[in-house]
Amino acid sequence: MDWQQLYDRLYAVYGDCVCPLVHDSPFQLLAAVMLSAQCKDERVNQVTGKLFAAAPDAPSMAALEEEKIAEIIKPCGLYAAKSKNLKGAAQMIVERFNGQVPENMEELVQLPGIGRKSANVLLGNAFDTPGFPVDTHVKRLLNRLGAVKTDDPEKIEKIVNRAVPAERWTNFSHLLIFHGRAVCHARTPLCGECVLAGLCAFNKRKK
Ligand code: SF4
Repeated sequence: MDWQQLYDRLYAVYGDCVCPLVHDSPFQLLAAVMLSAQCKDERVNQVTGKLFAAAPDAPSMAALEEEKIAEIIKPCGLYAAKSKNLKGAAQMIVERFNGQVPENMEELVQLPGIGRKSANVLLGNAFDTPGFPVDTHVKRLLNRLGAVKTDDPEKIEKIVNRAVPAERWTNFSHLLIFHGRAVCHARTPLCGECVLAGLCAFNKRKK
């Protein structure tokens, strides 16, 4: 795969991407990322407006009753697990990390409900530390393109970490996600409109 071409072609369309999850602090991004599991960003942003009015930071979220959190975040789905994790993460941040969201992978993944993907979102978008989150769009696109041949997010992350300069990891993940949402749909990819068509193994196989 010509990774430079891949990046450049997507960059020409989407440029420097901004994380679509509205937040004012690392903690708010952490909460929004948790809510975004199997939920669209637009819906998350509607719900976090209400949630952050009630609990804008880790201490106030830790003090909020789990039932109250669940009631507010219900529209995001999976609310029982999400409210438990959100309160648990807020408590851990207060008790073990002095009220501040940790800024490294090792500690981030100790928080309930935070895996490598979410931790990488935090690193790249809240702490300006290179991170490459692998979500379902990233996985699908890179496999269709023939750039990777695995569904294992950690393996994909490692391949990209080797192939792409670190300062591009965060934006590259955004670019793939934006393109997955706009063009390379899961069911019916719009290959005829795709700037990556000439690089894409899936598209070549169709011909
Ligand atoms: S050519 Fe088709 S399959 Fe390949 S990245 Fe573009 S939309 Fe996806």
